[in-house]
Amino acid sequence: MSLIESGLFKPQLLIDGVWSAAEDGKIFSVENPATGEVIAQVADATPADAKRAIAAAARAQIAWAETSVLERSRLLRKWFDLVMHNQEELAKILTIEQGKPLAEARGEIAYGASYIEWFAEEAKRIYGDVIAPSENNTRILVIKQPVGVVATITPWNFPNAMLARKLAPALAAGCAVVAKPAAETPLSALALGQLAVDAGIPAGLINILPSSCAKEIGEAFTSNEQVRKISFTGSTAVGKQLITQCAADVKRISLELGGNAPFIVFEDADLDAAVAGAIASKFRNAGQTCVCANRFYVQQTIYDTFCEKLASAMKGFVIGNGLDKEINMGPLISNRAQQKAQALLDDAVSRGAKIAYQAKQDDSWQTGYFFPPTLLVNVPVDARLTCEEIFGPIAPIISFETEAQVIQFANSSEYGLAAYLYTRDANRIKRLSDQLQTGMLGVNTGLISNAMAPFGGVKQSGWGREGSRYGMDDYLNIKYLRESFS
Ligand code: ADP
Repeated sequence: MSLIESGLFKPQLLIDGVWSAAEDGKIFSVENPATGEVIAQVADATPADAKRAIAAAARAQIAWAETSVLERSRLLRKWFDLVMHNQEELAKILTIEQGKPLAEARGEIAYGASYIEWFAEEAKRIYGDVIAPSENNTRILVIKQPVGVVATITPWNFPNAMLARKLAPALAAGCAVVAKPAAETPLSALALGQLAVDAGIPAGLINILPSSCAKEIGEAFTSNEQVRKISFTGSTAVGKQLITQCAADVKRISLELGGNAPFIVFEDADLDAAVAGAIASKFRNAGQTCVCANRFYVQQTIYDTFCEKLASAMKGFVIGNGLDKEINMGPLISNRAQQKAQALLDDAVSRGAKIAYQAKQDDSWQTGYFFPPTLLVNVPVDARLTCEEIFGPIAPIISFETEAQVIQFANSSEYGLAAYLYTRDANRIKRLSDQLQTGMLGVNTGLISNAMAPFGGVKQSGWGREGSRYGMDDYLNIKYLRESFS
């Protein structure tokens, strides 16, 4: 597919329902990480564009908050239908700018759309409360109201789904949005915006501002009093900066930040299921998801068997340009990502870890940012990659002896987003479910993401939850009414 020919190729800013150039006419390049080719020149939003978009959102939000929840629901449903109708084209755009294999890209489009579908339904279920009062002749009511204009900042690893799961609950709640996608992958966000226009979602409710100046746009969002909430998915370092910036006018903020997921395998586990779960959790998106297994803890008695089975399963990866049918692992997003993964690998090896398996580099990889799937054994607990997010296809395997020891290992992280546990012992499942410091736990499964479930973390992995009925709360204010009767 030529990107230019696609009706969903929109390399501009979407402000107040109109596609436009940046205020100063500047553009930036987007490249295909599998080939290094420039695939688009995209309008480069400035703080002045952000200001214009926020004003449009503030105007549109007033009428939207008055729109019946049934109408909001109908429009979201229409948008969902259009996204699924265009799944193939959206998936191709996603693969070209992000690198993931086409089958995974199709999966992401369906996953992102599932949030739109879910919140189309949840729009109808914004419940308040009636509370027993302390005195007669009074009534206490609790109502929920949209927070107003929401600004979103999203990353490049799931450029469709991370945005869809913010836009959908925001719109369902009656909010308007100004969105800044990652500069590496703006095209998926812009295509989603075009489909929102096609669905008849009123102008100004979804404004999309691709930009190479993340810091400046972030400041334009956080310093603007019309923006009442920030929803951010990205690194913990940037999340902390945004918290500080939001302090100025006590802006609400939701954060889905870094993770360092432990993947724990006990000797009583179904090892084949654990290996299948490890492949799914570790290597999806070439290891670039915030819930990727980052460190494997395998009980000593089954350590060698597990490593052999995992190495054998890893031989099934075919690495290359995600548009090619047989490919099941794409490149990393950038040269910087490649270098970081290599540095973490070198650090572990320098501390005594051994490379038990590594895919052979191929000449065709020269053009892109590929990284070979790598299995590391005898990894010491203090290697950097057990503390830092790897964001690459490296699986470090650490051995443990007792349950108490592995709980301590797993919890010895500043992060607490996802964790995985493989065991057939029901009592152990209960104990670890209670004790692991994590926002999400996969028990005998390597896949946890689901629009119906609350996605989010504890500790330095963030604040708030996305998806599920809890996901709506991030976009609603509570108002309490006390009524007195004679
Ligand atoms: P990563 O290192 O994985 O790209 P980041 O946290 O840097 O993670 O990026 C996530 C999102 O945050 C992207 O949209 C990026 O453009 C944006 N971003 C990066 N730095 C800032 C900043 N200082 N203020 C606001 N947004 C930022």
